[in-house]
Amino acid sequence: MRDMTDPLAASIATLREMIQASRVVAGFTGAGISTESGVPDFRSPNSPWMRHKPIPFESFLHSPEARREAWRRKFIMDDLYRDARPSRGHLAVASLIASGRMPAVITQNIDGLHQASGLGENEVIELHGNGTYAKCLSCGRRHELDWVRLRFEASGEPPECEACGGILKSATISFGQAMPEEPMRVAQKLAARCDLFLVIGSSLVVYPAAAFPLFAKENGARLVIVNREPTPLDGAADLVIHAEIGCVLSQFLL
Ligand SMILES: [Zn+2]
Repeated sequence: MRDMTDPLAASIATLREMIQASRVVAGFTGAGISTESGVPDFRSPNSPWMRHKPIPFESFLHSPEARREAWRRKFIMDDLYRDARPSRGHLAVASLIASGRMPAVITQNIDGLHQASGLGENEVIELHGNGTYAKCLSCGRRHELDWVRLRFEASGEPPECEACGGILKSATISFGQAMPEEPMRVAQKLAARCDLFLVIGSSLVVYPAAAFPLFAKENGARLVIVNREPTPLDGAADLVIHAEIGCVLSQFLL
């Protein structure tokens, strides 16, 4: 029986009803889903990311020193989060996708943990790219980080693309770099056709990513926000749950 005296349990029950009443659920995840995995929110004051000023994309393109510094930082970070594993939140998203209700999850994260939870390429829409591999900025060829690291550590210089000699960069979207067209297009399509837009662990302050919930709402979807802290879009949501992601989402594991 539902315990209506517990507001969190009541909200979770409402969320369950809303999911069951939906045909197409769009998931939208941010840093909050990965904190339980040991990956800190990169904008939080204690985050190791905040110790350095980000390297703008333009500097990366034009300065070999900026590229060396970017790769140095990248490999230090990778060592810190090497053991990160999918959280209960990631597993719950995978359950919702397996149930057939959620075609894909749109994510602001670059940690690859949705893929690590078993999702396929077309089930994860990455708005900010992916930090678990590198890509050539000229021809787009993928290079594995272990390959880049081996050469970087041996020579002190980041290696060039094996195919065309172009500049290799972690496959993330950097400050000053254009948003990736195809993921933006696919995410917009999903936001337009869903009837429930489920935000999980995003503070909804990073644009243009944070525009998707309102876009979905304007297209007739109901909006649910599950986040530990309040967000600027709470007032527009049909249901807001301020609680730990893992605690809420573990109720939706299959
Ligand atoms: Zn290339």
